[in-house]
Amino acid sequence: MIYLHSKNNTAHGEISHQRPFISKVITNSNLPFPLRASYALRWHGSTEALPQGFGLVLISSGKACPDRDAGNGLTNIVRLAPELDYLKEHDVIKFQPADCGINVLYRHEANSNAFLVTERCNSFCIMCSQPPRDINDHYLVDDMLEALPLIHSETHEICITGGEPTLWGDDFIQMIRASETHLPRTSLHILSNGRNFKNLDLAIKVAAVKHHDLMIGIPLYADYSQLHDYIVQADNAFDDTLRGILNLKRCRVPVEIRVVIHRENYHRLPQLAEFITRNLLFVDHVALMGLEIRGFAKSNLDAIWIDPYDYRNELAEAIDTLARSRMRVSLYNHPLCVIPEPVRRFAVKSISDWKNDFLNECQNCNSKQECGGFFSSNLTKTSDHIKAL
Ligand code: SF4
Repeated sequence: MIYLHSKNNTAHGEISHQRPFISKVITNSNLPFPLRASYALRWHGSTEALPQGFGLVLISSGKACPDRDAGNGLTNIVRLAPELDYLKEHDVIKFQPADCGINVLYRHEANSNAFLVTERCNSFCIMCSQPPRDINDHYLVDDMLEALPLIHSETHEICITGGEPTLWGDDFIQMIRASETHLPRTSLHILSNGRNFKNLDLAIKVAAVKHHDLMIGIPLYADYSQLHDYIVQADNAFDDTLRGILNLKRCRVPVEIRVVIHRENYHRLPQLAEFITRNLLFVDHVALMGLEIRGFAKSNLDAIWIDPYDYRNELAEAIDTLARSRMRVSLYNHPLCVIPEPVRRFAVKSISDWKNDFLNECQNCNSKQECGGFFSSNLTKTSDHIKAL
């Protein structure tokens, strides 16, 4: 587990920032003086020779510092909490002067970087890992727009997630446009419940951005409306979602269908696969996904948990149906040892590295390199059939 937020300490002198400060982490202490104020310098050298003029100077947790009262005019020196000692060149952070907190917005070495742009949502899924909150969180949009120009140009992919990002309307379009402008070689993956795309105008606006590599991931949990609407706890969600997918594809926007599997829907997996191949054959990718035990999934766990081993037959049948129809299908968040051997080739190491863990049993497994392992939050509730391969 890698921490993306921590409170830190003012190591020396005062903090001059009055408001949150978003900046790129660099290691070049010889930067010309006029440029320094925009950057956070990661400093591994002597604390007797701390460089001046940077927006922040980040020193490691164990470093001793000169006397606070030395009176040498140094400001903005932050001693990192041990869990943020990993911060490196090219990472992007948001510093909160009020409590010396740091949010890591982008990690250059991460296998995925996601921007949560709102906690609000028009659905209320029973297994939601990020339960909605009806708050004014437009600052999350502002943070993303400010961070985008700082992200390394060779980044493979970034993700926009929520909550429901389309609730921002034109600001949602602005985030896609800014991603294309600042990162013209980086894929953009957007996670949306798809319902607002029932409004064709929104789909047209997304298409008009002409993002070079965009995919919108949309959940579909069942092959009939009553079950899907129950899982997302919203009337008409099934119809809205299907209209949204159709509108996006009508505008040639790539769409991925995402199916989170749990006790309420595992038994319909074969029928859902059949439904997709008959009605949505034109979507670009289907991802069948294991549960992340956070948020509502944690509070509703007794009702929705099923051991993945117990739905292995339904899973294999669904994948077979999709693959035989020549659809691109992947299996996310499933340990290799609990899925049938013929479907292991569809399994992807899909869990973001900062929340990815393994069990003790995995240390002796010959397939650990290929296995995606577990969400850190799932380690207390795993399949009873984990065994080293
Ligand atoms: S034992 Fe661990 S590493 Fe091996 S397949 Fe199972 S979950 Fe993956």
